[in-house]
Amino acid sequence: MDNIILPYGVSDIKPVKDLDHCCPIKGCDTRIDEYPSREKPKDNSSNDCQKHKIYCRRNTYIYKDKLDNLIIDKELFRSIFEKQNNEKYDKRMGYENSEDALTWNVFVTLKKAGGLKAIASLISDKSCEEEPELILWGYSLKDGSPLEELKSFREDFERQLQIKTEPDIILKTGKGIFLIEAKFCSPNSRKAISVWRDKEINTRTKEKYEPYKIRYKDLIDDVLNKDFIERQNKFCSQLVRYVLYAHDAYKDKNYYIANLLPKMHKEINSIEGEFNPYLKKDTFKIITWEDIYKALENLKGEPEIIVLRKYLQEKTANLKKAFKKI
Ligand SMILES: [Zn+2]
Repeated sequence: MDNIILPYGVSDIKPVKDLDHCCPIKGCDTRIDEYPSREKPKDNSSNDCQKHKIYCRRNTYIYKDKLDNLIIDKELFRSIFEKQNNEKYDKRMGYENSEDALTWNVFVTLKKAGGLKAIASLISDKSCEEEPELILWGYSLKDGSPLEELKSFREDFERQLQIKTEPDIILKTGKGIFLIEAKFCSPNSRKAISVWRDKEINTRTKEKYEPYKIRYKDLIDDVLNKDFIERQNKFCSQLVRYVLYAHDAYKDKNYYIANLLPKMHKEINSIEGEFNPYLKKDTFKIITWEDIYKALENLKGEPEIIVLRKYLQEKTANLKKAFKKI
């Protein structure tokens, strides 16, 4: 563990007054003539800091090598996800604000240190004795294989959907299942009802519930409140799909849906009130990255946890300290 180089953190970043048109890392004199807005980063472009191996953006940066954003098991990440040819991991993992990189760093470290049961306990409010299996973005970290029950769910209900249900984090024990939607800087997704329409479901109906009913059949009546949904224009689509999937795959066990947010997230005080009325059963819970940091207290002698705590203390979002009071 001695040779771990952590990603850049608050101690590495220049004071705000010195950030304009230059590399954000202390002591660096690389000038940025022009900030590109959205195009793909290119080597030797005007925002490339060769010394720090990053592309600079206004108030943020992107690692040239996305694996530089990871603190643990980089090769495991590569071996599971690179071969899946999944654009999402390819594109975003190197971003300072990547929620996927944060997720990987925290959960894979917890797995190594036997700390996943602390997260299960946090979500269920009950002490969990069994160390859960970790599944990230649908792949088991045990052997890198895709999760069978998720494959079946997609096959049964989502064959024609371009973007299929993909829980960020699943923790599985014999008794309980924990599905976690992780957010860092971005909001929870809300989609207009129409995005759920596709080749199979193209009836133009004013009713909002019906298109879902056509796709997810009776499953939807089991978990969602029809009257409430009929009154909505936008839909917490990702979270709803987590619940549908959980109920389909794990209805005989206790399942929990958690939204993992930083304390400073815009939705921290509102998402519970917004999302709970969708659901027939009380399965939704918010936890924070700061709660996880606190839960590490009991494990802090472990070498991996020492690295993780330092990483979370130093973690930045848009070049500022990301987590409160840690
Ligand atoms: Zn630099």
